[in-house]
Amino acid sequence: MTLLAIATTLLVAAALGPGTTEPAIAARPTQPPKGVGDAAVRDRATPRPGAAPSTSSDPAPAGPTSKRPEDLTGYRWPMKRSAHITSFFDWRDTGFLAIAGKRFHEGLDLTTGCGGEVWAAHSGTVMAASRRFDPFMGYNDSLDEFYRRLEKAGRMSDLPIVVVIDDGNGYRSAYVHLQDTSVHAGQRVKAGDVIGHEGRTGNASGCHLHYELFRMDGAWMTVAKQRVKDDHYPRLIRERIDPLRVLSLRDKGAAQLPLGLARPKDPPHLPGD
Ligand SMILES: [Zn+2]
Repeated sequence: MTLLAIATTLLVAAALGPGTTEPAIAARPTQPPKGVGDAAVRDRATPRPGAAPSTSSDPAPAGPTSKRPEDLTGYRWPMKRSAHITSFFDWRDTGFLAIAGKRFHEGLDLTTGCGGEVWAAHSGTVMAASRRFDPFMGYNDSLDEFYRRLEKAGRMSDLPIVVVIDDGNGYRSAYVHLQDTSVHAGQRVKAGDVIGHEGRTGNASGCHLHYELFRMDGAWMTVAKQRVKDDHYPRLIRERIDPLRVLSLRDKGAAQLPLGLARPKDPPHLPGD
């Protein structure tokens, strides 16, 4: 064999190599290389647009059958009227959710000071009253991977203490960053009942209540890409509602608006909402 022939043979082998070996590799029941498994887990968790939530017992109707937020009744402010609003449901660069890629803060922040009473904003049934509340927050998929990683890293105590209440009207309320809670899962509560106290558990720079209202038969919203990537949250979650669509600032129990803080003119909302 001449040198040229050897070189040609090697070139041909190199050209054929990957193509000829791929089926054999694909057919071999080997473990995927490290790193690929993570991607596979994420792929499994990737929802199809409009797909029914796999972890919810609720059937997914074609559209919401619950009332529009503005038509809901029975809600009251979840803290005493001396509370101050510290953050609105508004666009925020570090927000947990995103609409068309733009992140926003998906709740209303109130404070009366550390230890202040937190009341149920609406009568309902307690779904969770602990740090393990996320399965009740309306995600489209399992939180197993999220918890697996947190537990492995010993970081479960990084999560806030949260009470989630099913308001019995298609909506749920979440009371986040509590110092403690005085209710338990399964308990029935009435609007105005004390359910816990204002704290700063979880990712909070100071004591406050993050009040979040969501519609369990509402549209899907997108979790910020960074949080899906970094923390392995599922990608979609049920529609978050601006609490000020339900709680009126003109109500006699309404929280105070500090000087210099104005209600957002164009709060986050889904197209057509
Ligand atoms: Zn908040």
